[in-house]
Amino acid sequence: MTAKLQLAQSMKRLGTESAFEVLARAQALAAQGKSIISLSIGQPDFPTPAHIVEAAVKALRDGHHGYTPANGILPLRQAVVKNLAKRFSVEVDPDNVVAVPGGKVTMFYAILMFGEPGAEILYPDPGFPIYRSVIEYSGATPVPVPLREDEGFAFSADTALSLITPRTRIIIVNTPANPTGGVTPKKELDRLVAGLEKHPHVAIMSDEIYSEMLYDGREHTTLLSYPEIRDRLILLDGWSKTYAMTGWRLGYGVWPAGLAEHATRLAINSNSCVNAATQWAGIAALEGPQDAVAMMMKAFDERRRYVHQALNGLPGVSCVNPAGAFYAFPNISKTGIKSKALETALLDEVGVATISGTSFGVHGEGYLRISYANSLENIRAAIERIGGYLEKHVK
Ligand code: PLP
Repeated sequence: MTAKLQLAQSMKRLGTESAFEVLARAQALAAQGKSIISLSIGQPDFPTPAHIVEAAVKALRDGHHGYTPANGILPLRQAVVKNLAKRFSVEVDPDNVVAVPGGKVTMFYAILMFGEPGAEILYPDPGFPIYRSVIEYSGATPVPVPLREDEGFAFSADTALSLITPRTRIIIVNTPANPTGGVTPKKELDRLVAGLEKHPHVAIMSDEIYSEMLYDGREHTTLLSYPEIRDRLILLDGWSKTYAMTGWRLGYGVWPAGLAEHATRLAINSNSCVNAATQWAGIAALEGPQDAVAMMMKAFDERRRYVHQALNGLPGVSCVNPAGAFYAFPNISKTGIKSKALETALLDEVGVATISGTSFGVHGEGYLRISYANSLENIRAAIERIGGYLEKHVK
């Protein structure tokens, strides 16, 4: 090779999501004939409900093959607006909805829109790794807001507010949360919103992609329901988790009036639009029967109960009860094994794919992320294998 390519410096700052790396390694080991159980991937283990698939097939048969408006077809944006009104009694203008290829894209647009050298962006730690990665890519300074196990990994308004400076551009909130399953109670969101009154220069990006995934009768509080911050709130939501549609690539942002045009311009400059048939599938998901969602949640809840109790029975492990999403975040510090070392050992030695807490930030040391998006049978077998490993290695 003689090419002497000069990559942009910014590429050195772009991180990754280790779930994809662990998945690739687990698949390589499985291809060698090893028995691997994956508790690593953040996607429902259910197929997309049949009526949603049929809507996409029909759209293709009906000739929806071309570009759509960059912000999404109007019937999709209207379906989003109706869905938000039904779930939360909030009013949203379809002009402020921008459909994008997956929940991640709203986060990418929001961070690119505000991030630059000298700017600071607050994000939860442990949290979804792409927040920090894209903040660094943009040149802005990532400022972690630590989440604490003894607060059920809820977002702390006081901690977050204490980190705001004149350079803060966005504060990212995620509830229910990846990787912890933590849910931030309404009273904490009330405090955050009240405190933000003193900081009118700060935008809020609320990642509510797991908003339909709550347990024990909890109800989701959307930041859309606070009129006092609507002029600086970016809501991120999508279909991936609720409707088991991760591979379809469909999400949306609700943007404040002045920002929807910027988001649309970012779409025009990158993906142009979401593929047309997927947008019709998205309408069917929001407007069709919701029984498949209820069925998935029932299965997740059963697994959650099992995982919580089983993890707490393992040597050196304790685990708070996840309140939302489909992740458990056990504390493994008493095993005496570092998170990354345990992730590697569990995969290589007993064939269980998990993710080290450190993949979600510095405050993730001492934890593992367990995704219970797998059958109860596989989860039981995986926990038995983890137990076998820990019994041998924890003194
Ligand atoms: N936000 C959080 C907190 C997530 O966990 C994920 C996916 O794992 C996303 C956003 C992105 O979802 P999508 O697959 O729709 O891009």
